[in-house]
Amino acid sequence: MRLELKHIKGGALEQEYSCSLMEFPDLIEIAEDGGPKFSEPLVFHLRFQRSGQFVEVDVRLDAVVDLQCGRCLQRFERSLSESFALTFVPQLKQCETEDEVELEADELGLIPYEDEILELQEALQEQLLMAVPISPLCKTSCQGLCPVCGTNLNAEKCDCVRKPFNNKFVVLDKIDFKKS
Ligand SMILES: [Zn+2]
Ligand SMILES: [Zn+2]
Repeated sequence: MRLELKHIKGGALEQEYSCSLMEFPDLIEIAEDGGPKFSEPLVFHLRFQRSGQFVEVDVRLDAVVDLQCGRCLQRFERSLSESFALTFVPQLKQCETEDEVELEADELGLIPYEDEILELQEALQEQLLMAVPISPLCKTSCQGLCPVCGTNLNAEKCDCVRKPFNNKFVVLDKIDFKKS
């Protein structure tokens, strides 16, 4: 989960990085709370490009994540394919380091590195968290659960009378429109 700058020979390096969920404590915590759970191993395709002190990393992530449907609450798997870029810049020397400068680097999406070592773990974890769909559906036509009896309406029907969320049409039904 870290790379020494000296390994980027000739200015570029391509690497495939395969790791377990153990490397990402935040992801484990979320999965334990019933949230999205990434399948193992997580595979990253990394392409490092060095230009002087700056290192740009193009990352492609192919992953399978186990999610809970926001409507019917069933678990389902979805493949994710994400591409993003990280830019590493050298950490300023101690005497020059001011909160203001650090904040600026962070806002620009720049990741400071120290001692010629690029630490990827935190940045990758952040990207993984952002890649997770916020309110996923098992399928766009998911019927969800009956709000009255809780039956999964994708699998079976029930006889409950369900009030429509938007009853504008119910009101309109009662008006006696004249037919022209
Ligand atoms: Zn569903
Ligand atoms: Zn029902």
